Amino acid sequence: EALDALMSSHIAEYPDFPEPGILFRDITPLLRDADALRTVIRHWASVVPADVEVIIGTEARGFVLGAPLAYELGVGFVPVRKAGKLPGTPRSRTYDLEYGTATIEIAEGALAPGVRTLVVDDLLATGGTAAATVALARELGADVLGAHFLIELSGLAGRERLGDLPVTALWSID
Ligand code: IMP
Repeated sequence: EALDALMSSHIAEYPDFPEPGILFRDITPLLRDADALRTVIRHWASVVPADVEVIIGTEARGFVLGAPLAYELGVGFVPVRKAGKLPGTPRSRTYDLEYGTATIEIAEGALAPGVRTLVVDDLLATGGTAAATVALARELGADVLGAHFLIELSGLAGRERLGDLPVTALWSID
C-alpha cells in the first residue's frame, strides 16, 4: 500500500539507541518532508472517529503529530507533559519503564467531563505511556474514544495494556 511505502522510506532505524538492544525508530525524516508530512496527517484525519472533540498528545512527539492532526480536524489539543512542566496543580501518573519509572501530568480542568477525546502518540511500544495518558484523561472525566499511533511495534503487545480501548496504528511493524 502507498502509505506503507511512504512510512518505510521516511522512518529511520537506529540500532542500540538510546540503550544497547533497542532499535530506535526516528520519525524526523517524515517530519522534514513537507509532502510526506501532509499526506500522513491528512490520511490520519480521515481515519479518526468523526465525533472526536479533543486530541490529547503526549510529550514530545505526541505534540509534533497531535497538534497538526487536531488542526486538520478542526478540534482542540491538550498536552500531557513530563512531570514538572505544567503550571498550577496538575494530575500525575507514574508508570513503569523498562528501566525505572516515568511521571506524566495533565492540567486540572483541561478536559471537560464527558468530552470525546483521542489519545495520540508517535509510537506504541509497551503501551505504558499510552495507558498512563488514558488514565489521566479518564481521571478528569473525559470519554476516551481510542488511542492512535503513527507506528505500532506489534511484537511488544502494547495494545493489550490498553484493555478494550480501540487502538489504531497507521503503520504496524514487528
Ligand atoms: P511505551 O510506553 O513503551 O509504549 O513507549 C512509547 C513511548 O516511548 C512513546 O512516547 C514514544 O515516543 C517513545 N518511544 C519508544 N520507542 C520509540 C522509538 O523507537 N522511537 C520513537 N519513540 C519511541
